[in-house]
Amino acid sequence: MDTQYSPNNIFAKILRGEMPCIKVYEDDDTIAFMDIMPQADGHTLVVPKEAAVNLFDLSERGAQAAIVATQRVARAVRAAFSPDGISIGQFNGAAAGQTVPHIHFHIVPRYNDQALRGHARDMQEPDVLKGHAERIIAALREQGA
Ligand code: 5GP
Repeated sequence: MDTQYSPNNIFAKILRGEMPCIKVYEDDDTIAFMDIMPQADGHTLVVPKEAAVNLFDLSERGAQAAIVATQRVARAVRAAFSPDGISIGQFNGAAAGQTVPHIHFHIVPRYNDQALRGHARDMQEPDVLKGHAERIIAALREQGA
């Protein structure tokens, strides 16, 4: 499993502000933004700021911050979309489906009558993602996060 961190990966560029993202949340240790190829409406990524490829490289402090931020954002996604369930996922290594080599957590709303769209397959319109982000941001504000 590759654990050599490359600062050229897309999430590192987003964290440095070199590439845009549709952000919903940020604290000292993490940022959360909309997945540009969402598997379901409201699919959000929580990204630790630490330079780590996967869960095995992340410090305990980073892991603690990440799960707290993931819980916070997932609560807001739940409030914003009222899904039937929410999958929280995190892939380590290409064999496990990891396509971006910077640690991140997926928050994916699930609906009883809807199959998931493909992983990292179809780009969503930015305006649609912005609308979803606004709903999540409003829910975060509501919960005081
Ligand atoms: P992984 O396969 O590494 O677990 O997940 C990477 C996720 O990042 C995928 O769901 C993919 O759709 C998403 N993604 C890839 N490139 C970008 C990007 O430039 N911006 C955003 N917001 N998401 C991205």
